[in-house]
Amino acid sequence: MTIVKSEVTTYQLYINGEWVNPISNDYFDVVSPATGAVIAKAAHGDEQDTKLAIDAAANSFPEWSRKTSKERATILTRLYQLMLDNSDKLAEKISEEMGKPIMQARGEVLNAADYVLWNAEEGKRVYGEIIPAATSDRRLQVIQHAVGPVAAITPWNFPLGMVARKVAPALAAGCTVVLKPAEQTPGSAILFFQLAEEAGIPKGVINLVTGTPDKIGDALLTDKRIRKVTFTGSTNVGKILLKKAADQVKRVSMELGGHAPFIVFEDADLEHAAEQLARNKFLNCGQTCISANRIYVQESIKDQFLTLLKVKVDKLQVGYGLDVNTQVGPLVSAAGLKKVEDQVKDAVAKGAQVVTGGTKPDLKGYEEGFFYQPTILADVNESMRIANEETFGPIAPIYTFETEEEVIAKANDTDFGLAAYCFTTNLSRSIRVSESLEYGMVGLNDIVLAQVEGPFGGVKESGMGREGGPDGLADFLEKKFISTVF
Ligand code: ADP
Repeated sequence: MTIVKSEVTTYQLYINGEWVNPISNDYFDVVSPATGAVIAKAAHGDEQDTKLAIDAAANSFPEWSRKTSKERATILTRLYQLMLDNSDKLAEKISEEMGKPIMQARGEVLNAADYVLWNAEEGKRVYGEIIPAATSDRRLQVIQHAVGPVAAITPWNFPLGMVARKVAPALAAGCTVVLKPAEQTPGSAILFFQLAEEAGIPKGVINLVTGTPDKIGDALLTDKRIRKVTFTGSTNVGKILLKKAADQVKRVSMELGGHAPFIVFEDADLEHAAEQLARNKFLNCGQTCISANRIYVQESIKDQFLTLLKVKVDKLQVGYGLDVNTQVGPLVSAAGLKKVEDQVKDAVAKGAQVVTGGTKPDLKGYEEGFFYQPTILADVNESMRIANEETFGPIAPIYTFETEEEVIAKANDTDFGLAAYCFTTNLSRSIRVSESLEYGMVGLNDIVLAQVEGPFGGVKESGMGREGGPDGLADFLEKKFISTVF
């Protein structure tokens, strides 16, 4: 096993192009989820620091937004290259702070870099329109411009990916940014900002404040100069932010929780479906908002599918993220682990069968870590907590169904609407089911939904707005209609 590093780094705030101490001069602990040890101290920023960051974002907005898209693209392309050049360092930081296996952290870095490059390019295609007018003496035009200084609030599960997905389109559109990364995982955001500085992003254009979420959040949401809030996190916090944003009618993009159904029909390629489910469910230790949360398997193939899935799940190696052989790391926190343990206990008490897992693994040297064995639960029903809550952990709960109509109704019977998956080889069924699922994204014999070219986002209480593709950039742009008489 890899030896856990022992040095403790100190992270400052980045405001108006300077790395500074927080006004409180207070720092909070960043803890390794694998060992429980303190691995960094991060600046405890508050509303005063946030105000300075907003001043910087507001003051730098006119100049940054007036740059040509080519000038902005040149800087962003340099940032893309720097991310690739520093990908090992970034990946190690992600893995150390949130626990994910290093191979997955490397994937996150490449994906994050892709968002930077793609938006740099797309920024050059922010076109206007000339509209035919109803009278011959008029010229009707539409131009697009940056929405203004943006507040970005990001979670810990993809600590670099989520930052890049917000900061890259914002900058490409001409917006300036104040970022509040998750308190559990500031390190990769700090490295990203260091690279952005090196790439030549002018001072004040991007600012980073770590610290008490509600104080920073309130300062961002009550300041009229912040014109847009882009958030990824829980539905509960999203609702709080939406209510506060309403007071000043700020633009919002919300990527919130999910409760993804994963449907396996009897006509599916079962080997493929089991392999894809094992990858989707246990990626990031089940801590993604698009993780399969309710697995519906057609009754006729239940035993066969469970056998295939168990073989794959039993092979998964749980361990320290920086160990190259690790495929499943720890949960991010003690609270995350407790939620998983409680859901499993509740399900078992109500009749669920543990097919595999169901306990903490025995990992020498990592007894204090927040690890849980990849688990399959069969005979799960709607009375159990796991059926109604997002799990955010390595538990695959299996339900069965008889008919297509029944499973579509069950899959849609939730307030969430982020991602859904359907595995079938029947063409007509694939069209019927994918079009009937009330979700922002559907994986049809596929699990890869976070693609830079496509719109990632949800409906219902899973959020509003899209990240990725032209829609991702459009979320940071306003349209202006100009009617001219000549
Ligand atoms: P999770 O449960 O995955 O940690 P949260 O929604 O709690 O998700 O957190 C996502 C992000 O929102 C984090 O950066 C967190 O600090 C921030 N956050 C939490 N509460 C608030 C709040 N009241 N105001 C602003 N940001 C908040």
